[in-house]
Parts: sequence; structure tokens; C-alpha cells
Amino acid sequence: ELTTELLNKWMAAFAKKIEANKAYLSDLDTPIGDGDHGNNMARGMVAVEDALNAKKPADLTSALKLVAMSLISKVGGASGPLYGTAFLEMAKLSAKETDLAKLTEAALLGIKKRGGAEPGDKTMVDVWSVVVPALAKGELTEEVIQKAVESTKPMQAKKGRASYLGERSIGHLDPGSVSSGYLFSALLEVEG
Ligand code: ADP
Ligand code: MG
Ligand code: MG
Repeated sequence: ELTTELLNKWMAAFAKKIEANKAYLSDLDTPIGDGDHGNNMARGMVAVEDALNAKKPADLTSALKLVAMSLISKVGGASGPLYGTAFLEMAKLSAKETDLAKLTEAALLGIKKRGGAEPGDKTMVDVWSVVVPALAKGELTEEVIQKAVESTKPMQAKKGRASYLGERSIGHLDPGSVSSGYLFSALLEVEG
């Protein structure tokens, strides 16, 4: 179950991982993108932390909305609106449902609808589409996350900037999948 308190801890843990891996994420985005994914996400997560600490939203829906708006306005690129949509969909559902599996399911549907990517397209959807059902079954582990992240390496990108490279996108991890991996590793950490 997601509470405001857990969300605060989750976002703090995610922000920490993003900051620690900022250069790595941008390096991953260099051969198959424009080398900014780490910087984009770090800028966004600083904004998320600032907003949560300044406004201290009392209810889960406002808190999720604040996360979404911070990401949409600060991350930019392709990933900003997609992460933003994910949290906005969670915010919408959170008025009547606080189960994490249900919330992340809504988030994944939002990401797919917004970006048009399906599993196998070498995008963050490849991580979300594995993690969400695992979470629902109570089977989410660090290993499941890492396997999903690694699965993007042999894929040829069909969506996003990396798709412009065609076959040359093969053999590299998808940066948005790696950052999504951090999001769910952070969740495992704080769920305890
Ligand atoms: P940009 O490519 O605009 O510079 P980022 O570098 O911040 O944006 O983010 C790139 C990541 O966004 C990719 O690694 C991929 O995971 C994700 N992405 C790009 N396009 C899509 C899409 N259509 N659907 C889902 N995820 C996408
Ligand atoms: Mg980029
Ligand atoms: Mg960019």
C-alpha cells in the first residue's frame, strides 16, 4: 500500500540513486541518444525533492500530483512527459485505490498510451512491463529488476531517439530502462 510517507521515502531513495548514477545514465545515453538522460533525471529529482519538502503535501493524491508536475516541468526530453504521465496516472487512481500494484499498473498503461511503445521496443516499457506484474504477484526482487534492465541490451530500438540508429542501437542498455530500474530498486529498499 502506498502512503504519503512511503512515497516521500521512495522519492528520496530514487533521487539518491539518480544523483549517484547521473554520469552513468548520461554515458548510456551517449552512443544511442543525446547524452542527457542522467542530467535530465537528476534535474527532475532535485525538483521533486524541493517541491515535496517545500509543500509537504498532506494527502497521497496531492503528493503524487506534485511529483508528476515537477517531473513534467523539469526533466524534459522524451522521458520527462513519460515519467510525469506515470505519476499523474497514479495520482488520479490514488483517490480510490492505494494498492501499489494497481497504481503502477495504471502508470504503465499511461506510459504506453503516451509513448506508443510496447515490450521489445527497447524503452522503459521493457522494465515497467516486467516489474508491474511481478509486483502484483508479490514476486518483485532486485534480480527481476536487473534481468528486465539487461533484457534491453540485445534489443533494436523501435521508439525514441535510439530508434534513429536502427541496428546500431543493438548492444547497448536503454538508459530509461536503467533509470526505471533504479525507481523500482528504490521502492524495494523503502518497502523493507
Ligand atoms: P531524450 O531522448 O529526449 O533526450 P531522455 O534521454 O531523457 O530523453 O530519455 C530517453 C529514454 O526515454 C529512453 O532511454 C527510453 O527509455 C525512453 N523513451 C523514449 N521514447 C519512449 C517512448 N516512446 N515510450 C517509452 N519510453 C521512451
Ligand atoms: Mg537523451
Ligand atoms: Mg534530450
